[in-house]
Amino acid sequence: MRPAHLDLLLSPINKLKGVGPKIENIINKLGINLNIHFLWHFPYKIIEKKYYENIHDAPLNQFVTLKIEVIKHYPSKFRRQPYRVSCLANETAIDIVYFNARHPVIRSILPPKSFKMISGKLEFFKNKFQITHPSNIENVTDIQLLREKEPVYSLTAGLNMKTFIKLSNQVLDSIPNLKEWIEERLLLKYNFISWKEAIEKLHNPEIEDTYSEKNIFRRRLAFDELLAHQLAICIIRTIDNKKVSVVFKNNNKLKNDLIENLEFKLTNSQINVVDEIQKDLVSNKQMIRLLQGDVGSGKTIVALISMLTVIESGYQVTLMAPTSILAYQHYENISKLILNLPIEIDILTGKDKGKKRIEKLDKIKDGTTQIIIGTHALIQEGVKFNKLGLSVIDEQHRFGVYQRMAFNYKGFRPSILVMSATPIPRTLTLAAYGDMDESRLIEKPIGRKPIKTSSLTLKKEKNLIERIKKKINNSKDKFFWICPLIEESQELDLKAATDRYIALNKIFKNKVMLIHGQLSEKDKELTMEKFKDEDYRILVATTVIEVGIDIKSATTIIIEHAERFGLAQLHQLRGRVGRNDEESYCILLHKENINDTAKKRLDIMTNTNDGFLIAEEDLKIRGPGEVLGKRQSGLPSFNIADLSYDGDLLEEAKLYAENIISYDPQLDQNKNLKDLLYIHERDTAIKTLNAG
Ligand code: ADP
Ligand code: MG
Repeated sequence: MRPAHLDLLLSPINKLKGVGPKIENIINKLGINLNIHFLWHFPYKIIEKKYYENIHDAPLNQFVTLKIEVIKHYPSKFRRQPYRVSCLANETAIDIVYFNARHPVIRSILPPKSFKMISGKLEFFKNKFQITHPSNIENVTDIQLLREKEPVYSLTAGLNMKTFIKLSNQVLDSIPNLKEWIEERLLLKYNFISWKEAIEKLHNPEIEDTYSEKNIFRRRLAFDELLAHQLAICIIRTIDNKKVSVVFKNNNKLKNDLIENLEFKLTNSQINVVDEIQKDLVSNKQMIRLLQGDVGSGKTIVALISMLTVIESGYQVTLMAPTSILAYQHYENISKLILNLPIEIDILTGKDKGKKRIEKLDKIKDGTTQIIIGTHALIQEGVKFNKLGLSVIDEQHRFGVYQRMAFNYKGFRPSILVMSATPIPRTLTLAAYGDMDESRLIEKPIGRKPIKTSSLTLKKEKNLIERIKKKINNSKDKFFWICPLIEESQELDLKAATDRYIALNKIFKNKVMLIHGQLSEKDKELTMEKFKDEDYRILVATTVIEVGIDIKSATTIIIEHAERFGLAQLHQLRGRVGRNDEESYCILLHKENINDTAKKRLDIMTNTNDGFLIAEEDLKIRGPGEVLGKRQSGLPSFNIADLSYDGDLLEEAKLYAENIISYDPQLDQNKNLKDLLYIHERDTAIKTLNAG
């Protein structure tokens, strides 16, 4: 049962005085459905309106409030002429001035002979006081009640500030005192004041800094919100973990055989991650783990080693890739790696039809095939596994799929390993995938050099072409030439790429190829193969090569109009070279004059190769929604917290939540935290608690 002291906050707004169906509808448009939502709707600016009894004491060019008597209206006679209302402040003349005003409206708000309290910027113009477009006009009431500063809220059509503030104040005036749920240590560490006080401060701001990253009142509430979020995840996860998964325990013969026969030594980072995964696999809880590592960091081998553990325990594994090109690449690589091991491997994609498909499906169903590589075809109906123990999902920046892989299989839960080559800032993985563990490959295989990155204005294109000519004559090197991204238009992308292709082909006869998104999957594959195997040197491409194309002989990537790409995308593109021990290069071609953000992006790219660092910078520049892609991000939407700069609070909230849930999973000793879950509407968590 919900505690009674939260009733007012959590009831719908239609119980407030003055809210009928029409107003309710309008307020709902602001995202305010429950009374408590008024508390989260902070003013975004303040108007100053200090009252001056005597106009001669009032400072010029500042916002002030004066008591005036309306004398006479001088409406505008033609369009550009202002509408003047002549008034008196005490004995001194002052004009109230409007441009483009509707006459009847002004007449009604400033009727002659009336006295009004008028707020606005006081000016002295042509020897006379005036206020242009007053920010506020009120009847003369008790001057004691006048506020020097008034909050301004964002509104929506059909709603005025007065109505809004009246409603908002009904809630603000009756905020209950809730028992503190943050421990003393953290209150001190972050300089937090109480929940109620923080809300009151935010709604009566002294200065306009509500949305700054440092505002400690907002930070206090942001922490609450993030704490509620992390608590909810912990609660649900604790319950989930009671559902036991398989313990994959064996002699590790396959695994050791593979490692012994590798042509290279695993990096320390790979060894650590293999261990992390291993610990999950031999425990009785279901693994859901995100494996992050830049392109070329060697994720596949880590996944394969983990697969072998599962196979040796008698289970099947899958590896799902986003395109059939990538699925085939994996299939070929892995087949080679396990050549001497007694393991059955197969591939299943959309291309498999008819009898061939049925044969494959049969072998998957009866357990003969142990490693099944594939595309989305793997999660289509009709695919039945015998004993699926682990699903690996590659290059998946759109999560969500893992849930289907995890739960579509009856009986028990296969473990899940999601591999991402798009480094995601820790703040975002915590927020969006708080229910996943995370492993990071932070070092590149030994011998691999950082990609030398430089930026160059498009004016220097000729020099660049000369350099390419020399290189092509003296080596076997291959080049990628990426063409500008033109928003919302694949046709235009293609046109730009085609033009570039034609131009380059004139210079480098029969050495240039073109690839773009409108080619069929099959034609793309053919182009890639040809480019790889024959004496072509430059592959002109739209951004299609962003995802997982592996051409080791390519040593230089040129990105045209690099200023139009986002950081994450530039980093992904750059990762297409530097896949062997040779020196490799990335050249960012940009137009002469670029804005500061674009310049910052290019600077970051030329200064570092560290994908995780780049991801953090990207988050600061673009904000969380953009980094993960607004729609498919799976990011929870926060009312108060902003993940571009509240990441530290999220980390803190996670630790705090985990600690509490570890000793008090039902929140019996921390009942005040239930209040917190209620006010941040973590209903699922509350239901879970009540059921548990
Ligand atoms: P990604 O993380 O991009 O998926 P891959 O797993 O495809 O990277 O590995 C890229 C290449 O590096 C492969 O050819 C792989 O065999 C090789 N590789 C992986 N680990 C190492 C290592 N420790 N030392 C040398 N080469 C390695
Ligand atoms: Mg890969």
